[in-house]
Amino acid sequence: MDFSQYQKSTTSVWAGETEPTANGAVTTPIVRSVAFSYHDLDEWHNVATGKEDGYIYSRNSNPTVHVLEEKIRILEGAEAATSFATGMGAISNTLFALLAPGKRVVSLKDTYGGSSRIFLDFLPRYQVQVTLCDTTDFAELEAEIAKGCDVLYLETPTNPTLKVVDIPRLVAAAQKVGAVTVVDNTFATPINQNPLALGADLVLHSATKFLGGHSDAMGGLLCGRKDLVEKVFQFREINGASLQADPAYLIARGMKTLELRIERQNASALTIARHLKAHPKVSDVFYPGLETHPGHDIAKAQMSGFGGILSFSLVGGYENVTKFLPKLKFVHLAASLGSVSTLAGPPRTTSHVELTEAQRKQLGIPESLIRYSVGIENVDDLIRDLDEALALL
Ligand SMILES: *Cc1c(COP(=O)(O)O)cnc(C)c1O
Repeated sequence: MDFSQYQKSTTSVWAGETEPTANGAVTTPIVRSVAFSYHDLDEWHNVATGKEDGYIYSRNSNPTVHVLEEKIRILEGAEAATSFATGMGAISNTLFALLAPGKRVVSLKDTYGGSSRIFLDFLPRYQVQVTLCDTTDFAELEAEIAKGCDVLYLETPTNPTLKVVDIPRLVAAAQKVGAVTVVDNTFATPINQNPLALGADLVLHSATKFLGGHSDAMGGLLCGRKDLVEKVFQFREINGASLQADPAYLIARGMKTLELRIERQNASALTIARHLKAHPKVSDVFYPGLETHPGHDIAKAQMSGFGGILSFSLVGGYENVTKFLPKLKFVHLAASLGSVSTLAGPPRTTSHVELTEAQRKQLGIPESLIRYSVGIENVDDLIRDLDEALALL
């Protein structure tokens, strides 16, 4: 079916679902089979050599996993898609498949902690040249890209201060030198931002977060240009970071409500950001939907919603954070994000625990910062919860 003429909420529910289903099942079947059998040896050989579509072995592909890959492919408007056991599986396999000794990658100082480790610790071991630029210094990024590079790796909005990176501007610079642009779209989701439509070649997700949406399954997804996705797929197929049918089912099920959840989370996050901005016990609020956020205009141009994550710092520093967070009723103090339940934590304990205080300061992360990932709870209840905890300070 051609889904391009339909809206994302319709696509999230119907895309990828195969017909006919076993016994007319109205939800995606979980196919736990490791291997797939053939009576006809010619057909088996044709599938094994890629001449015919079909399934051979679940490390390569699996019918349940394929439903999920199709959902993200269609939602991101991509030619091809593949999947991984985790978001980091998607990121590491993509970078290692596209790069080789002597190649160069340009990226940002503010990428996700795990991505940052790949850039700083692992790629240099393989003689890949890595240049990390100030995340919002687009002139510096353009200058580094113009020196020649093979991969431009972006993430926007970033973790945890929600910096916004100008995708079309940097894609234009990358295209001039023939570099492939990869965007980590985890924070925005395909509902709020479609990097491929903005010119990127590949987009990847930690499906563990908003796509699954219930904090009960891990996965990673990559989609974009067919030749590039195939290159990464061939690498992953042998490296073995494959997604299993059970988490694929949970993520695909979560994606059926993606638009509903994101709409609610966009609206609630904006309301909460505005409320906290005016609160005397809050010293700073970071949310791209606020007119005062330095990335607001770029976000408005390239996103259709500002997302469900905000961060804020408290008057009184980290000591007040330790008093405030445990008082919240409707928050799990936990590391993840993008769930139906609100999750919060201080980046100095979660995403940026491995950095020194000086390094965090350099990235503009206050010690008293709290990352708040808004769930689907009623926004008035969440604000009351925040107000009651703030009143105790
Ligand atoms: C969580 C996250 C990842 C890593 O995903 P996992 O599923 O935990 O491996 C990558 N990028 C971003 C932006 C994330 O939030």
